[in-house]
Amino acid sequence: MQTHFLPAFHGDAIWLNYHDSNGVLRNILIDGGPSETYGEKNKKGKFEFGVLAETIDSIRGNGQRIDLLILTHVDDDHIDGLIDWINYDADAISLIDRIWFNSGKLIFEHFKVPDIVENHISLSVEDLTDTAIKDGVTFENLIKDKGIWEYKIIEQGQTIELLDLKFRILSPDEEGLRELLHKWEKKEPESLTAFPKDYKKTITELLASDAYAKDPSVHNGSSIAFIITYKEKDMLFLADAHPEKVVEGLKQFKFTKEKPLVCEFVKISHHGSKYNTNYKLLELIDSPTYVISSNGLQRSPYKQCLARIIDSKKDLSLFFNYPELSRHIFLKEDFETYPDLKILPADYEFRIA
Ligand SMILES: [Zn+2]
Repeated sequence: MQTHFLPAFHGDAIWLNYHDSNGVLRNILIDGGPSETYGEKNKKGKFEFGVLAETIDSIRGNGQRIDLLILTHVDDDHIDGLIDWINYDADAISLIDRIWFNSGKLIFEHFKVPDIVENHISLSVEDLTDTAIKDGVTFENLIKDKGIWEYKIIEQGQTIELLDLKFRILSPDEEGLRELLHKWEKKEPESLTAFPKDYKKTITELLASDAYAKDPSVHNGSSIAFIITYKEKDMLFLADAHPEKVVEGLKQFKFTKEKPLVCEFVKISHHGSKYNTNYKLLELIDSPTYVISSNGLQRSPYKQCLARIIDSKKDLSLFFNYPELSRHIFLKEDFETYPDLKILPADYEFRIA
C-alpha cells in the first residue's frame, strides 16, 4: 500500500492505493483539499488542473476506480476540491463506488431533528466551466440518487471491514455530531499569508511556556478519524479531529498508556494546530513518523504542536507534504537539543508491503 499526502495547500487530500487479496488495485481518497487542489486559474485567466485532477486522471487512465471516498467533515479545505471536480467533470460520480460522509441531513435524521437545507452542500456552479449540474442540486442528492452513499453515520467505536482493510473509527462521537444541530456558519476565507508567529522560538522555549487549549470548532469536532489496518499494520488518520475525542476512541479500542497503538505513521490532526494535539493523545500512540499536511499559510502548523510531539517521543521523524516548511520552522538550536529528530525528504514513500 502506498499513501500519498497530496500537496493540498492548507487542506488535506490523501490518496491510498494498494492491491487487495485478489490482486485488484484499490484506491481510497480521504478528502479533496480546497478548490485549488482540483485546479485554479493562472495569471492569464486560463484554468489549470491541480494535483487532485492529476490523481483522478491517473486512476481513471489505469482503468481503476475510487473504491472509497471519505469526506471527513464539511470544512472548505477538505471538501471544495471534490465539489469542483464534480462540477467540472460530468463523469466524476461514475468513478466512485462508495462514499462515507456524515452530512447535515444524515446527522439531523439521526437525532430526529428537522433538517436545515442551508447546511446541504450546493453544487451550483460559480466560475468553473459549463456543466450538466443544475442550480439547486446538492451534493447529498446527487450521491444519494447514484446509490454510492452508504447513508449511515460513521462514528466512534465502529469497526468496519471493507476491501481487505479494517477501519476502527475513533471520531466523531455522539456529542461531536450533536453539536452540529444548528445552521452552520460558513467560515470566512482567511487570506493569511504569514506563518504562525512561534517559529522564531526554540522547541525548548516553547515547551517552557506550553499550555494546551481546546479547539472550539464544532466542524472539526465532527471529523471522521480512524485507524486503517492493512496486512496487520496500522495507520492513523486524524483529519481535523479533537484530541479529547480521539483519546476516548483509542480507549474504547483498549489502547492505554502502557499498551499504546503501535502504528506505521500518524497524519496529525488539523494541519498541526496546537489546539488538536496534546500529551494525553500522544501517550496513547507509538509511531516512528508524524505527518503534517499543510503549506504553512493558514496558521498551521504551530511549532508548539510539533514541540509536544518531539518532546514526547525519543526517536521520531516528521514528514511535511510541503517539505520546505521545516526550514522555516526549526532552528539550528533545535537540532542540537534534539539530535535524533529527523525530517523525511520530499520523495519519502509511505509504503507497506
Ligand atoms: Zn482542515
